[in-house]
Amino acid sequence: MKQKIGIFGTGVVARTIGEKLQSLGHEVMLGTRNVAVTSSRTEPGNYGEPGFKDWLAQHPQIKLGTYKEMAAFGEMLVNATNGAGSLEALNMGGKENLAGKVLLDIANPLDFSKGMPPSLSISNTDSLAETIQRTFPDTKVVKSLNTMNAFVMVNPSIVPGDHNVFVSGNDTGAKETVNSVLKSFGWKEGNILDMGDITTARGTEQLLPIWVRLWMTFQKPNFNFHIVFG
Ligand code: NAP
Repeated sequence: MKQKIGIFGTGVVARTIGEKLQSLGHEVMLGTRNVAVTSSRTEPGNYGEPGFKDWLAQHPQIKLGTYKEMAAFGEMLVNATNGAGSLEALNMGGKENLAGKVLLDIANPLDFSKGMPPSLSISNTDSLAETIQRTFPDTKVVKSLNTMNAFVMVNPSIVPGDHNVFVSGNDTGAKETVNSVLKSFGWKEGNILDMGDITTARGTEQLLPIWVRLWMTFQKPNFNFHIVFG
């Protein structure tokens, strides 16, 4: 089903997901704190991607708005903001604009305040996804795609063989919606692991310290987790 999809964020995840969704026929808007500032950014991103100004010019069908405009536009929403700013971003979107909607949460609560490797600002008995679900009880939060690099999210075949994407959330219908998005990205049904309710996001967010260490050791971002049951 083609939808209007609003994405919180303008970083590599928001752009990569936005570009993919738009190529699949969805209408896409990215949201940011300040449209004028973001649309004039020329500095390249961490992965060498063009500055946001050039990227936007190369993707004229993707709209840019404030968090509020984007959240009102989206029939489905995606959180691709920095974990430290996610609640602030979602609050700027407006509770009324998030109510009743599916929110695919890709953010990780990484704390870089002491440099590399980052620690988790929320962990063990809580997760960022649960914090978002508690703050926005009328929103159907589904955590997924946060355990891999942005390019693997939308093109799983760049990692050979079978490997997994995890899904956590309280609402079965919302998880089905996210599953269909994942399949449209190329994820095979058998590789999508429904972990259960939103508390299971504690486990998947806590994979990040391992992900970061693997990346620091091997210096290759295109890898993923593969769970093999005996
Ligand atoms: P990022 O640099 O982590 O986040 C950029 C976005 O966060 C921008 O849109 C920025 O808003 C927003 N933001 C930052 N602080 C904010 C605040 N205080 N209030 C409101 N908004 C704020 O971008 P990213 O690398 O694309 O990652 C996005 C999320 O996905 C992160 O949580 C990350 O952990 C997770 N993730 C990333 C990858 C990856 O491959 N990079 C993989 C898996 C998961 P403005 O537009 O206003 O500047």
